[in-house]
Amino acid sequence: MKILVINAGSSSLKYQLFDMDTGDVIAKGLCEKIGIGGAITHKRPGKEDYHEEVTFRDHDDAIALVLKLLTDPTLGVIADLSEIDAIGNRVAHGGEKLRRSMLVGDEEINYLYSIVPINPLHGPPAIKGIEACRRLMPGKPLACVFDTSFYATLPDYAYIYPIPYEYYEKYQVRRYGFHGTSHRYVTERAEALVGKPLSELKVITCHLGNGSSITATKYGKAVDTSMGFTPQEGLPMGTRSGSIDPTVVTYLQRVEGLSPEEADKMLNSKSGLLGVSGVSSDGREVWAAANEGNARARLAIDILAYDIKKIIGSYVAAMNGVDVLVFTAGIGENDRALRARVCADMEYLGIAINEDVNMNGPRGKELELTAEGARVKTFVIPTDEEYMIALDTQRLLSK
Ligand code: ADP
Repeated sequence: MKILVINAGSSSLKYQLFDMDTGDVIAKGLCEKIGIGGAITHKRPGKEDYHEEVTFRDHDDAIALVLKLLTDPTLGVIADLSEIDAIGNRVAHGGEKLRRSMLVGDEEINYLYSIVPINPLHGPPAIKGIEACRRLMPGKPLACVFDTSFYATLPDYAYIYPIPYEYYEKYQVRRYGFHGTSHRYVTERAEALVGKPLSELKVITCHLGNGSSITATKYGKAVDTSMGFTPQEGLPMGTRSGSIDPTVVTYLQRVEGLSPEEADKMLNSKSGLLGVSGVSSDGREVWAAANEGNARARLAIDILAYDIKKIIGSYVAAMNGVDVLVFTAGIGENDRALRARVCADMEYLGIAINEDVNMNGPRGKELELTAEGARVKTFVIPTDEEYMIALDTQRLLSK
């Protein structure tokens, strides 16, 4: 069985074609500058990458070129589109109604349109990607996998904000949580690595990348997560503030005369690692500056490490324990020094890692960091959201 996974952003679109019989990616690539120019990079294992500058008026153009390349006599990997059994689309937000991965039709797509006001950045491009797949491959089973759906199991006291309840009823203002597909993937992998069923495990997963979130999963069900109504809540990120006293925003709006849009921009694009360090949003550059003695770069890392610790601690309290701790995504998988900082002085919680393995273990592989005698099993698990989407799509087809 072959499944095409599509992840559409506002001006870019990633794709991967999986052979589910082997689990292999047989082609993948990236379309960039959609609507503002265009370029495609198409990759096949063991072959030279193909790059072409083109014009993408919209997502239709991009997906049309992807399909053309996949079936191209020299650059392609399949003879024709009938070899693709289904398409799996990544969708960041499923709102309150779309709470599991599913095959979608008009009704679900109309619902996605209706929740664009609470998902203005990621909603429109995802819908465009879905619509383009429907137009270009009519009748092909089309699944959506929602980043929010892993959080369908959150108890109400974890997702309702203590503001007037009418705002939840009127505008669906609540915690939704994001990165769910990544947290779900690494949680399922943790189950395999520990060799115990999730129904017996309390797991904390740290997805630390440009965007970062931490999720608590108790006996197989997500019970809390650090991202909220939007991917803004929780940890400080590359350019996002994460959680701050909400009245800081209204105060700054008053004293700086910021409009709501300017305040959003300040919180989304000028804060986090970049805002504190003044150096970069990229973890590597912030570390480099900190190591050269830049005090604000050091401070940005101190804040991040401290906030990760605090959220881990709060989830241990929420679950009355933790058995497994996982690091994933760009920073989680690669930033050994940050992992060391986070896991230092956590013996009280049963967390301790082997310094040598943490600092010198192989990159890009699943790696157990647990120190001898530590109660909590700590792992690095490279995330693979695309494979999770392909697996969900395959599971839906076989139902
Ligand atoms: P996204 O959230 O966009 O998917 P990624 O998961 O790819 O992002 O993570 C990107 C982040 O990972 C960048 O901020 C990058 O600096 C950081 N990163 C990658 N490698 C390292 C490293 N060795 N040390 C510190 N940060 C790293």
